Amino acid sequence: MNLNLSVSQVSVLGKRKNAAVIKYKNDIILIAGLLILTAALFLILRFTGKTGRYVQVTVDQQVMSVYPLDQDREEKIVTDESTGEYNLLIIKDGEARVTEATCPDKICVHHQPVSKAGETIVCLPHKLVVTVVSGETREQTAALKAPGRAEETQKEPGKAEDAP
Ligand SMILES: [Zn+2]
Repeated sequence: MNLNLSVSQVSVLGKRKNAAVIKYKNDIILIAGLLILTAALFLILRFTGKTGRYVQVTVDQQVMSVYPLDQDREEKIVTDESTGEYNLLIIKDGEARVTEATCPDKICVHHQPVSKAGETIVCLPHKLVVTVVSGETREQTAALKAPGRAEETQKEPGKAEDAP
């Protein structure tokens, strides 16, 4: 209402004001565009931020891999190269689950699919842990993957004193 009134008022005032009307229209397009952009950004942040969109796989406390939860995939995780023990990890529809495993108890296979940050599937015989992590903690897992960590874990605090 208010808008229509002011536009017609300006039109009556002549050519000089027409430029102002066009500018006004452009502003509306700009504002509408910004609103759509903000809404899109909000949705993106909402779905990628806090819901936990990565699956971190550790074997014997070593981070083996991190997979995005929003990409369907099938990964055979060999937990013991010499015996060929493995767990089959399936990521589908934003959920991760273990569908197959060579472990004796099959607890990991019977575990419900995980999708929220902090949820885990554990395979005790294989020392395998599948954890859903949020986007923010992804950098932390990347840091864990960095070389040097393996050396650190092998050092025991008591034995450090042996060095001269
Ligand atoms: Zn298992």
